[in-house]
Amino acid sequence: MPHPDWTHRSRTALWHPCTQMKQHDAGDLPLIAIACGQGPWLYDFAGRRYLDAISSWWVNLFGHANPRINAAIKEQLDRLEHVILAGFTHAPVVELSERLAVLTGGTLGHCFYASDGSSAVEIALKMSFHTWRNQGQPEKNRFLCLAGSYHGETLGTLSVGDVALYKDAYAPLLRQAETVPSPDARQAQPGESAADVARRAAMALENHLAEHHDSIAALIVEPLVQGAGGMIMYDPEYLRLARMICDRYQVHLICDEIMVGFGRTGTLFAHEQAGIRPDFLCLSKGLTGGYLPLSVVLTTDPIYATFYDDAVIRGFLHSHSYTGNPLACRAALATLAIFAEDAVLERNRRFAERFTALLQPLANHPQARHFRHTGMIWAVDIATADPDFRLRFYREALTRDVLLRPLGTTIYFMPPYVLNDDEAALLAERAVAALQAALA
Ligand SMILES: *Cc1c(COP(=O)(O)O)cnc(C)c1O
Repeated sequence: MPHPDWTHRSRTALWHPCTQMKQHDAGDLPLIAIACGQGPWLYDFAGRRYLDAISSWWVNLFGHANPRINAAIKEQLDRLEHVILAGFTHAPVVELSERLAVLTGGTLGHCFYASDGSSAVEIALKMSFHTWRNQGQPEKNRFLCLAGSYHGETLGTLSVGDVALYKDAYAPLLRQAETVPSPDARQAQPGESAADVARRAAMALENHLAEHHDSIAALIVEPLVQGAGGMIMYDPEYLRLARMICDRYQVHLICDEIMVGFGRTGTLFAHEQAGIRPDFLCLSKGLTGGYLPLSVVLTTDPIYATFYDDAVIRGFLHSHSYTGNPLACRAALATLAIFAEDAVLERNRRFAERFTALLQPLANHPQARHFRHTGMIWAVDIATADPDFRLRFYREALTRDVLLRPLGTTIYFMPPYVLNDDEAALLAERAVAALQAALA
């Protein structure tokens, strides 16, 4: 049966995200119309399949068309699709908030919802500043971020980001945050461990706060893996020290776990590996298993208490239209149920061992540098001066039925948690083949 030319119509009617549209029209960048998904596979209209090795931009956890998540959403759909969350509440949002509080050890018992990651980061920034303001310290109105950090694309989140490609064009619009060194483990000198690099970066943080803490509301970090900055990985020691230093200088710690949350780094939340809890925790992406847009900021009783007052303006008067959407909350509850019922983290640990072994030919490629791995994320830098490497590799991988989108010259893998052994072997083999072809 003939089908309409979706890609042509898409190029005409849409403006695709993070894309120079001319590359599509010039044929440099393929545009693929997807008809359906099943498990880790995406199928186009001709029945050709692609292994979704980046979890559809880091969101999918348990595969496409997951029967359990599908069923939960369908059931919710016939009860209540949406309701205003100001003045009203509903079962899915209450149950989800209670679950999240338990999963963060009861320390982060207040959930504020939005629909995407960037909005969650904006909320955390506003809440942090507003907390200090409510406490009579409005001069604490600046933010501190790590070199190479990424926290979203809105103006507020770009200003706590440090990825030039996304930020530089908008520099005149931003109130730029202050930046401290990243604990990037690749910076280890001979004889130095990742923890040593973390301690060095923590010392720079301490020096910065010693001088500027009066004006700083919060430090925002991506725990353990700085994603869009190039899958920069670091030792948990940094988070442990950052927590201590922030406490010492009365600065909030915001953990942006939008990418690293929900098992990506091996633990349910990345900050657990440092034995700490943040003042604000931002979650999105995997929260709904990659199904529906939902984000949340969790915070503590003491912070919540600074807003709790007779004066309306001391409250947090922030909202988004779809805050706490019931369908999205149901998808999130179904996702958390899978974690509870299937021993997902243990299965992932066994998978990660096998997949790391399968990636050794890539790690040992003569042009590969700094092969690294944290939980269910793998990355390697490719030594090449070719400015088109990223696009070349992307195309070569697609030719081999694999969806991999390098960040600059960094190839990374962030598969859904459902690959079987054959799919893992196929992915590892085709990645090396694509690399050889891209470099040829
Ligand atoms: C993706 C991401 C965001 C932004 O989330 P959106 O839903 O794309 O707005 C923020 N922080 C981190 C660490 C992310 O990976």
